[in-house]
Amino acid sequence: MNTARPVLSVVAPVFNEEPILPELYRRLRETLDAIGEPWEIVFINDGSRDRSLDIMRKLHQQDPRVRVVSFSRNFGHQIAITAGLDYAQGDAVVIIDADLQDPPATIAEMVAKWREGYDIVYAVRAQRKGESWFKLFTAHLFYRLINRITGVRIPVDTGDFRLMDRRAVEAMRSLREHHRFMRGLSAWIGFRQIGIEYVREERYAGQTKYPFRKMLRFALDGITAFSYLPLQLATYLGFIIAGLSLVGIVATIILRLSGSQAFYGQASTLVMVMFLGGIQLISLGIIGEYLGRIYDEVKRRPLYLVQETLGFDSSPAPRPD
Ligand code: UDP
Ligand code: MG
Repeated sequence: MNTARPVLSVVAPVFNEEPILPELYRRLRETLDAIGEPWEIVFINDGSRDRSLDIMRKLHQQDPRVRVVSFSRNFGHQIAITAGLDYAQGDAVVIIDADLQDPPATIAEMVAKWREGYDIVYAVRAQRKGESWFKLFTAHLFYRLINRITGVRIPVDTGDFRLMDRRAVEAMRSLREHHRFMRGLSAWIGFRQIGIEYVREERYAGQTKYPFRKMLRFALDGITAFSYLPLQLATYLGFIIAGLSLVGIVATIILRLSGSQAFYGQASTLVMVMFLGGIQLISLGIIGEYLGRIYDEVKRRPLYLVQETLGFDSSPAPRPD
């Protein structure tokens, strides 16, 4: 069995995916063997509470090219990918979801593009099967919104499924922010990038690990990491409302001078106070979203803690920062 230093690494984050792992391994091995370079699979066990780690351990025993980094608890999908990039040793690293929504066969196409000289080959979802209209609709809105309001061009309809050359991997590894929106960071680093289309399959088994609440957090991480627009919104709203109030002052003076009784009474006052109170609280909340993220950076906690690794001689190479 070939355990030479891998040319290709495949990183798969795993959170409670026990029914999928054997099939994932089988399909990855099939694809990678066909490509013909020495390879490794790096599973990141993101605090799974089912038998995922046991299965990974067995796979590692059968095939030492399967390597495992097991977190001390659940740190989240984006952090798991980060650890994968830290530990992967290949000249090119492919990030793939463990649930087989990203078909392993696409990796062969990515490698072909990589050999043409591209540093990042990202997979664009030409079609998505078996996802709720709600997820499709919100994802559609989100990717168009984020491209409108941010400076980086995040390719529409891409996920984290992509191949990165060593150069891009080292660039990604130098970015240590805590609230990580990896597909945005991957666009931000630049280099030669190209997209290839693929059909996103249904989840092979089990349930999505991204309930609505997590998806919302993720979307907020993406927006706050790349845009100040939400903060500036308060300024714009302030100007609009101050402008309106000037008009209101002039209008009221004219109404009073002409003896009109319009806008007397509490109701109009109450409505305005509540309206402004609402806007002020929303603005404070937006500042809070940024402030909390700044606080998380200031604390300088490590991004993740590792409980154990399988198949690695040493800890990852030092980061380029
Ligand atoms: N995942 C993870 N940690 C988490 C949530 C998810 O490592 O806290 C992994 C999960 O096992 C899968 C990938 O991230 O391999 C994508 O998650 P999922 O398929 O549930 O998301 P969806 O495709 O529904 O957006
Ligand atoms: Mg999935």
